Amino acid sequence: MLVASVDVSGPVVVIQARTRSRDPAGCTGCGALSEWVHSRYVRHLTDATVGGRPVRIDLSVRRLYCEDPACPKVTFVSR
Ligand SMILES: [Zn+2]
Repeated sequence: MLVASVDVSGPVVVIQARTRSRDPAGCTGCGALSEWVHSRYVRHLTDATVGGRPVRIDLSVRRLYCEDPACPKVTFVSR
């Protein structure tokens, strides 16, 4: 996970982060590596505090196609 920015100006500390975008990701079903990106979306993770202040992590993650046509997962989310 790469931290892109940290905003501490508001009541909630907002951390913007993303997964490494150039690396192929392993399918969670069969383990095959794929670089075939289906889409991106942002996950909001809110289960943390820093110094008593709530923290929201906006994590940009990729959904990829599995390149193995026999794999039942079809798409998977990179870790
Ligand atoms: Zn697969």
